[in-house]
Amino acid sequence: MTVLVVGSLALDSVQTPFGKVDDVLGGAASYFSLAASTFTDVQLVGVIGADFPRQHLDLLASRPIDLNGLQRIQNGKTFRWAGRYDYDLNVAHTLDTQLNVFADFDPRLPEQYRASEYVYLANILPSLQLSVLEQVRQPRFVGLDSMNFWIGNPDTKRDLTRVIERVTAVFMNDAEIRQYTGTYHLLQAAREILDLGPRVVLIKKGEHGAMAVSREGVFVIAAYPLEEVKDPTGAGDSFAGGFMGHLAESGDTSWDGIRRAMAYGSVVASFAVEDFSVQRLIGLTRDELRERLRLLQQVTAFQTDLLPTS
Ligand code: AMP
Repeated sequence: MTVLVVGSLALDSVQTPFGKVDDVLGGAASYFSLAASTFTDVQLVGVIGADFPRQHLDLLASRPIDLNGLQRIQNGKTFRWAGRYDYDLNVAHTLDTQLNVFADFDPRLPEQYRASEYVYLANILPSLQLSVLEQVRQPRFVGLDSMNFWIGNPDTKRDLTRVIERVTAVFMNDAEIRQYTGTYHLLQAAREILDLGPRVVLIKKGEHGAMAVSREGVFVIAAYPLEEVKDPTGAGDSFAGGFMGHLAESGDTSWDGIRRAMAYGSVVASFAVEDFSVQRLIGLTRDELRERLRLLQQVTAFQTDLLPTS
């Protein structure tokens, strides 16, 4: 099964306490595609300008990522994002956002994309997410991500709510869920989102892992314990790529399948943050994933007789 994704393809400039890069490959859809392509074929919908380096296209094309849905605007400039992280790597400070070619993007899905069953609406203008969703015939599992940039503006927030009403799973980090709902308590906030229609809310909590909330229950997955993190950019998109990629590969969208997919997401995200840009996702092997999955299982399992009654 393939996964269709729409989202930003970007040239990022990022500063963390551990280094700095300028105009590197970024964007929610780039991270997602590279992460998901370890599991399954990806169909990419997005737009780039004439300044998007050929080597980035070659990199994406070297993986099972179909680029027929990618438009290149000859006289346009690629989306750009600049951000800074301080020692709290869970908080990204946006320094600059330039929508450029995304401002006028009108996504048109190639015919073969319309049959996709697994769809991921990565972070981008909610109206574009909606347009893509409307062109897919009968999706089975639709994931959605967004961010403060879109939640903070009443117009784009209204569009975002229209998308949320139609998706299966909402992926947001803790701060975004609080901002969107205006509710501090995460479980309550998640239930408010469930009331809008989704089957599950996946709350990303950076180095503290992630939590799934649905009517079937609550599940918590730890983040893989890393010795060193260099750049948290793309962690959320890589988590979603591992999650959706595994779901599409297994075809199991049950609550158990969702719980398992979270473990894959957590492990894939751990690779993304070990280096700047998508460096560590390039060439990521299933053996490397398997090794970390095993370790994640080990460090989170425990045995107990429960509290013996006295
Ligand atoms: P993440 O760290 O997973 O939340 O996502 C990081 C990526 O999101 C970066 O590579 C940025 O290029 C991209 N990004 C930042 N701001 C926006 C925005 N307003 N719309 C779409 N993508 C964005």
